[in-house]
Amino acid sequence: MHVVKTGKTVKSTAMKKNKYPLSWSKNNFSIKIFCSIPNIATGILLKSGDNYSVIDPGDGILRDLTNELSVDKIKSISDVFITHGHHDHVGGLWSLLTYLRVMNKKTYLKIHYPKGCTEIEHIYKAFLKVYQNSLSYIIVLNCINSNKVIKSKSMTIKPFEVIHKELINNKKRQVPSLGFNFSYNKMKICYGGDTAYCEALVKNATNADLAIIEAGHGDDESDDMHMSFKEATTIGKLAKEYFLVHVPE
Ligand SMILES: [Zn+2]
Repeated sequence: MHVVKTGKTVKSTAMKKNKYPLSWSKNNFSIKIFCSIPNIATGILLKSGDNYSVIDPGDGILRDLTNELSVDKIKSISDVFITHGHHDHVGGLWSLLTYLRVMNKKTYLKIHYPKGCTEIEHIYKAFLKVYQNSLSYIIVLNCINSNKVIKSKSMTIKPFEVIHKELINNKKRQVPSLGFNFSYNKMKICYGGDTAYCEALVKNATNADLAIIEAGHGDDESDDMHMSFKEATTIGKLAKEYFLVHVPE
């Protein structure tokens, strides 16, 4: 477990091997990070009151959800939040959508994703092409940018832009990427997604009840894709508690 209270010394060597799942819970607001391993998979379950949401449904999300929740509770999931379209954050979405169809979900599912994240739009289009005539529930795509405040059944969600670049044909491009503040009952969880060190994350993690911060470069030098332990820890300490995630294994 790597919840570290502000002010405690953190040794990077102790954080190299995260033991998933990482869980946090306070006053009916809870989060379970099933895993967050760069290039492999992320999968996060958020519970606010009686309401379930999924964040970054990477490969294995369905296995983890079915281990954790009853079929009815999985069917009640109302919102999916996508930080960005990399495969380790969206690879399990198709399975989740198909499972909900097979289980005859009747309530809507909203997928919130950053503007320009074509992966989600293509998965959605392909999914509808195959299953449109036999789909029991409505999928609502909500394309967002950092100005849009989202109200889910029980939470207020504020997205913020982060810096996450990738190399395509020797050219760097900014991947459409968001972090999210999830607020419920006067508590706030800040999840930065994949990001380099950026002021938006510093601002949003400050005083959060929980900050989930990526350290995708571990002990190595940071760049404009991921953070080092040192940077991630500096930001994490601004929150009341924090997890370092997405550490290379
Ligand atoms: Zn990424």
